[in-house]
Amino acid sequence: NIRVRFCPSPTGNPHVGLVRTALFNWAFARHNQGTMVFRIEDTDAARDSEESYNQLLDSLKWLGLDWDEGPEVGGPHAPYRQSQRMDIYKDVAAKLLAGGYAYPCYCTTEELDERREAARAAGRPSGYDGHCRDLTDEQKAAYEAEGRASIVRFRMPDEPITFTDLVRGELTFTPENVPDYGILRANGAPLYTLVNPVDDALMEITHVLRGEDLLSSTPRQVALYKALIELGIAKEIPSFGHLPYVMGEGNKKLSKRDPQASLNLYRERGFLPEGLLNYLSLLGWSFSADQDLFTIPEMVAKFDIADVNANPARFDLKKAESINADHIRMLKVEDFAAACEPWLQAPHAPWAPEDFDKAAWEAIAPHAQTRLTVLSDITANVDFLFLSEPVFDQPSWDKAMKGEPAALLTTAREKLEAADWSDPESLKNAVLAAGEAHGLKLGKAQAPVRVAVTGRTVGLPLFESLEILGKEKTLTRIDAALA
Ligand code: GLU
Repeated sequence: NIRVRFCPSPTGNPHVGLVRTALFNWAFARHNQGTMVFRIEDTDAARDSEESYNQLLDSLKWLGLDWDEGPEVGGPHAPYRQSQRMDIYKDVAAKLLAGGYAYPCYCTTEELDERREAARAAGRPSGYDGHCRDLTDEQKAAYEAEGRASIVRFRMPDEPITFTDLVRGELTFTPENVPDYGILRANGAPLYTLVNPVDDALMEITHVLRGEDLLSSTPRQVALYKALIELGIAKEIPSFGHLPYVMGEGNKKLSKRDPQASLNLYRERGFLPEGLLNYLSLLGWSFSADQDLFTIPEMVAKFDIADVNANPARFDLKKAESINADHIRMLKVEDFAAACEPWLQAPHAPWAPEDFDKAAWEAIAPHAQTRLTVLSDITANVDFLFLSEPVFDQPSWDKAMKGEPAALLTTAREKLEAADWSDPESLKNAVLAAGEAHGLKLGKAQAPVRVAVTGRTVGLPLFESLEILGKEKTLTRIDAALA
């Protein structure tokens, strides 16, 4: 049985890199009828927050990425929050110490810094030099008597560590590049280096899929795993796969702090979860050589970690938007209408709730569905239907009302008054004829009508919009523009 885990630390806002990791783990689990474990790595009290924890849960739910074990759903390895598992880590650390897999290190930060500088100056590897590796009991006692604090360090083996990365193939790390590392702080608090592989072992994780930024942790974890196996705590070393970096603007690594990386931004703009997930799955993976648009069930059916590419992936906002637009088109119109709902209400909607006209909304929704890129654009596209007066914006007005708008609008009003209001084609012909009378093509003739009636220079198809707004309101607004 395949068991994967998504194990974020609850710090800050969820970002697209994190979502991509969650998605690949989830798709891998679902494709293989495996188990998705969701674990919260909240051992850093200074940085972790409850707000961030709640956001993580809420984001995964919004995206539709469900989990089989973890917060809220529980499971055989509960609890799934590391802050509630401290006794486990202390116990494992004690066993590692007792078995000689780890040792107390009494070096002070100053001493470490000094020796690191000296090693650098001499061109030697500058990682931890093994100073406290083999202290005798007398030496330890002497340090204790001095009142020195100690951390616990894991003893790395003296031979190279090799493992086969599911994305990158066989990788080897030599001992001088992976020195002994801390697993407990001086105050006894366990570090990521310990708690992450210990939980992976106890939760029987078979595949660790995570970002390339964690690749340097892997040789350490493989070595720790070997110790855990010898101690009877772990059964098997999991397989590791490191997902490629995501590059942002200027070919720089997309950082968590980059505004473009914030998941909330996409949610607030009205990306559909399936549109965003479709796009994010292309960051390091591809569905096929000639198809970028697919549903999430289709992705799950095809997903294989072996198809993940090791090369950095570029985050392309335009492409994300265009894929989202395609997903908007793919919805049933009633689902589209339902998805728009948050943007038809306060705080987004500038109209009073009682001015919302459901029939008008249902009539305009199909026209909006074929044009929107993100759902949040719906508000500005339909506000002319629900506001008693269209929004007014001087630059839009100036742009649309060029030449002799009054003459054109007067003629358009006359022709519209005589038109057949049950047929948008008839409304179009009215404006067309008004344009002809003043030597204007349809596009030019349409602009003042649109701004007079909707307040905007661009929007949904004009004649359908006029029909839905109705004859009386349309003519009143043209009159107001002429006044
Ligand atoms: N809590 C770690 C992080 O947020 C998890 C890394 C891992 O997947 O091992 O980066």
